[in-house]
Amino acid sequence: MPNIVIFGAPGSGKGTQSQRIAERYGLHHISTGEVLRKHISEGTPLGVVANEYIKDGHLIPDDLMLRVLEHELDSNPNTTAGVIFDGFPRTLVQADAFEKMMEKRGSKLDMVLGLEVNEDDLIQRMINRGQQTGRADDNIDTIRERLNVYHQQTSPLRDFYINNGKYVAIDGNPAPDTIFSNISSVIDAI
Ligand code: ATP
Ligand code: MG
Repeated sequence: MPNIVIFGAPGSGKGTQSQRIAERYGLHHISTGEVLRKHISEGTPLGVVANEYIKDGHLIPDDLMLRVLEHELDSNPNTTAGVIFDGFPRTLVQADAFEKMMEKRGSKLDMVLGLEVNEDDLIQRMINRGQQTGRADDNIDTIRERLNVYHQQTSPLRDFYINNGKYVAIDGNPAPDTIFSNISSVIDAI
C-alpha cells in the first residue's frame, strides 16, 4: 500500500481527507497535530513543551518532531502496510530527514497530495472550527501567525515535492465529498 503525505496550509482540510483516505484504503493515519494535542491534554512532559510552541502558532523544533514521528512509526506495527502522514513534514529539514527515515525502513514516500485553498476561506474555516470545537489555536491572532509560519517554513516544500515529481495538486475549495472523489481518482491511478 502507498505511503502518502497530505500537504496544505492550516485549515486546508488535511485531517478530514486523511480520515477518509485511511478508511477507504486501509492506511494508518498519523496526524502530528493530533498526537501533540493528545500529549497536551494528558499533560505529559512532551505536551508541556509542545504547548509552548502551539499556543503561539509556532512549529515545535525539528529534532523533537522527528523523534515523535519515529516513535509513532515504531509503536504502530501496521505502519508497514502504508501510512497517510497528516501535518508532517512541515519544514525542509523534516522532509530531508523523512526521506532517510523511510529509506532506513526499506520504504518510500509515494506521493504528496497538496490541498490548495484560498487564503480567506482558510481563515474562516479555522474560526468556525475554533467556535465549534474550542481548539485553542483556532483564534484569529494565532491563525494569522500559523499562516505566516506556513508561508515562511512550510510552503517551500511544495516546490521541493514538485521538483522530485511527487506533488499532486488537489483543489481544496469544493465540498469535502468532491475533494475526496478527486483524491480517490488520483490514488486509484497509482
Ligand atoms: P489542519 O487544519 O489542516 O489540520 P493545522 O495546521 O491547523 O492543520 P495541525 O496539523 O493539527 O494543525 O498542527 C497543529 C500544531 O501542531 C501546529 O501549528 C504546530 O505547532 C504543531 N505541529 C504539528 N505538526 C508539526 C510538525 N510537523 N512540525 C512542527 N510542529 C508541528
Ligand atoms: Mg489537522
